[in-house]
Amino acid sequence: MRVVYSPRHRLHDPGFEVTGGERIPAYEVVGRVEAIREALDSDPAFSFVDPRAFGLDPVRAVHDDGLIRYLENAWTDWLAGGTGAGAILPDAFLHPALRAGMGDAPEPSSPCGQAGFYCFDTGTPIVPGTYEATRMACDVALTAAEEVFGGEPLVYALTRPPGHHSARSVYGGYCYLNQAAVAVEWLVGKAKGTVAVLDVDYHHGNGTQQIFYDRSDVLYASLHADPLQTYPYFAGHADEIGVGAGSGATFNQPLPAGTTDTGYLAALDRALDRIGEFGPAFVVVSLGFDTYGQDPIGSFALTTPVYHEVGRRAARLDRPLLVIQEGGYDVSTIGRNAREWLRGAAGLPSAFEAEVAS
Ligand SMILES: [Zn+2]
Repeated sequence: MRVVYSPRHRLHDPGFEVTGGERIPAYEVVGRVEAIREALDSDPAFSFVDPRAFGLDPVRAVHDDGLIRYLENAWTDWLAGGTGAGAILPDAFLHPALRAGMGDAPEPSSPCGQAGFYCFDTGTPIVPGTYEATRMACDVALTAAEEVFGGEPLVYALTRPPGHHSARSVYGGYCYLNQAAVAVEWLVGKAKGTVAVLDVDYHHGNGTQQIFYDRSDVLYASLHADPLQTYPYFAGHADEIGVGAGSGATFNQPLPAGTTDTGYLAALDRALDRIGEFGPAFVVVSLGFDTYGQDPIGSFALTTPVYHEVGRRAARLDRPLLVIQEGGYDVSTIGRNAREWLRGAAGLPSAFEAEVAS
C-alpha cells in the first residue's frame, strides 16, 4: 500500500495550546505522525511516496482567497506589527452576535484583529512554519488523490496538521487548510462524479461539512462525539442534513461518551449503508484515532482490534479509498492503531493480534 508522506510537517510545531482557559503543552505534536511513519516503515506491506506540488488552484477551489492570503502572510505581518513573539493566537473573535443586525465587519488591518477574523478558537496557534506545513499537507493529500484517481485501490495520506475543522473562510481545531476537502473537490472535478467522505475522527469535521453543505455531489457522513458535550460544540448534530441541493447529503451520528467497539461498529454500518446508497466514484476517509480508549482528549472506549475491523468494513464498499490522517493524540498507540486500520482496509490480517498471540 502506498503512503504519501513529507517530513516538512515538522515545520509546524507550536508546542502549546490554550484549552479550558489554560496554556498547556500541545496535543497536536510532530511525534504523532512520526510514530505512524515508524510503525508503517517497519511493515513491508507499506511503501512511501514523496508528495508532488499541485500549486494553489486546488486550495482556492475550497477556501476563500482571504483565508489563504491570511495564512500565507500571518507570521510576517505579526512580526511587523510588533505583537508578541512566540505564536499567533487571537484575543478577540468575530462572534456572530457582535454584529447581529449590523451587516458584515470589514477585515481588520491589525494582526491581532485579523487572527480573530479568521480563527475560531484558542487551540490553533500559528508559528513561522505553519503555512508551509499546511500547504504541504494539501500536496500530500492531492498526491494520494492522484494515485487513487490513477487506479490505486487504497492510498494513505499521512498528513499533519489535520484539516477537517477548517471551513471555507475560517480555521481552528488544530487545522489550517482542509486537505481532505481539497482532495475531495479535486476528485470531484477529475472524475466528474460523486465523492463520499467517511469522517471517523472523534470530533465532528465541521469544516468539511460546511464546505460541502449545499452540494449534492459530495456526501459527508460522520460519526463523532456529541457536540453538546464535545468540541467543536456548534456543529455535528443529527438534524444537520445539508441545505438546498445538498439536502440529505450530510449524515451526522453524534455518539455518547463511553461508546464501545460494538456501539461504534453499529454506527459505522449505518454510515457505510448511506455511502453505499449514494454510490460514489471515490470514498475519502478522514481518519482519526482520538476515538481510542486511552486518547488524552477523547471519551470513547475503542480498542486496537476495532480499527482493523473498521478498515475492513470501509473496504467492503468496494470503492477506491483515499485515507487522510486527521486527529489522534495518544502518541504511544497511534502507530499501531493506524497500521491496524490500514491493514484491515487492505485485506491483510491483523498484525496486532499476531503480536499479542506470540
Ligand atoms: Zn479529532
